[in-house]
Amino acid sequence: MNVESIRKQFPILHQEVNGKHLIYFDNAATTQKPLVVINAIKQYYETDNANIHRGIHTLAERATAAFEATRYAVQKFINAKEHAEIIFTKGTTDGINLVAQSFSKAFIKAGDEIIISGMEHHSNIVPWQMVCEEKGAILKVIPVTDEGELDIVAYDKLLSSKTKLVACVYVSNSLGTINPIKQIIEQAHIVGAKVLVDGAQAASHLDIDVQELDADFFVFSAHKVYGPTGVGVLYGKRDLLDAMPPYQCGGEMIKEVTFEKTTYNELPYKFEAGTPNIADVIAFKYAIDFVNEIGKEEIRDYENELLNYFVVGANCIRPMVEKGLTLNGEFNSPIRLYGTAKEKVAVQSFVINGMHHFDAGMMLDAKGIAVRTGHHCTQPLMKRFGIEGTIRASFAIYNTKQEIDVFVEAINRLVN
Ligand code: PLP
Repeated sequence: MNVESIRKQFPILHQEVNGKHLIYFDNAATTQKPLVVINAIKQYYETDNANIHRGIHTLAERATAAFEATRYAVQKFINAKEHAEIIFTKGTTDGINLVAQSFSKAFIKAGDEIIISGMEHHSNIVPWQMVCEEKGAILKVIPVTDEGELDIVAYDKLLSSKTKLVACVYVSNSLGTINPIKQIIEQAHIVGAKVLVDGAQAASHLDIDVQELDADFFVFSAHKVYGPTGVGVLYGKRDLLDAMPPYQCGGEMIKEVTFEKTTYNELPYKFEAGTPNIADVIAFKYAIDFVNEIGKEEIRDYENELLNYFVVGANCIRPMVEKGLTLNGEFNSPIRLYGTAKEKVAVQSFVINGMHHFDAGMMLDAKGIAVRTGHHCTQPLMKRFGIEGTIRASFAIYNTKQEIDVFVEAINRLVN
């Protein structure tokens, strides 16, 4: 893997921010886009723009073919059995809301239980709270350990014949923890519950095989996998999607409309009402090709190398007294890491003792370093650790050890 040649494909990285070279470590929020993706959007509007699935003219056929090509690329990317099981959404949030609304109409009744985990993004908490309110169902939460792992023994105790759905994050956006999702799915299936996997942070780092995982639903966003914003994927097993009612209604999702009765379109169109985000779906295929070309294993190995390099660097930072001596000559780390699970992706949350994360984030920005600060849309998880928020550095394929050196030196200056 040649990082320099990869970096050349990301024009945004080659700029100065606040007079310094941009160092972009906010990849868990959104990744930057390679030229192939940017060019695909431009090319679409320059040569192919037309509405899809409806027209028989050449541009409409070209646009439809390119749009559907992305569906096949996604099918392969996550190893779904059929391309009809791939539904395009606006993003992870949209996919979860679709399942929450539609699945609950078909399968949830008063007294049923839904299990989520203590490290969910708000987008995998609030939709289920609304379902529980509407249906009189009960929400249960898998606890999180001090290391930032899920307590799987406690999870097993939460499961019962009342459990209808488990909605769980594969990789935590705040902690980087890779949850044992296959085991979580297996245990849920024993009691007859279905499982929705929030794959927002998993899709760019891990090989995804929805059949091997036996996931019932799997959602992710294109923009976290080097693709455009406004595009997401909902994978669902055909039998479940067939049994679920449409989420939104309008054009595309119908077979026949009369004023007396409407029949619905087949999968996946039943869940794709209205004109979709055509250009960005088409461009998403180029992002998938980009990732496939490098290879998930290469990506993960390289990103883990960056993560370990950062953790070692951060752990070496010590507060100095005026004369440059270590405080009492003892190790007294001013950096506290959150998320020290054994299985992790290249995401590291931390706090600097005595400094608010927002102040740290602003001071790092002044040095051209973009990190995320705050609760990362996981307020209950922050509460679990007794903090308001963290500084989060998340690394991607185009980051380098030299950038981490600059970052660690900048943190060292903040500390001292
Ligand atoms: N779930 C996780 C784990 C996330 O990290 C995010 C975004 O940060 C989301 C869900 C929501 O994704 P989106 O905003 O793309 O819908």
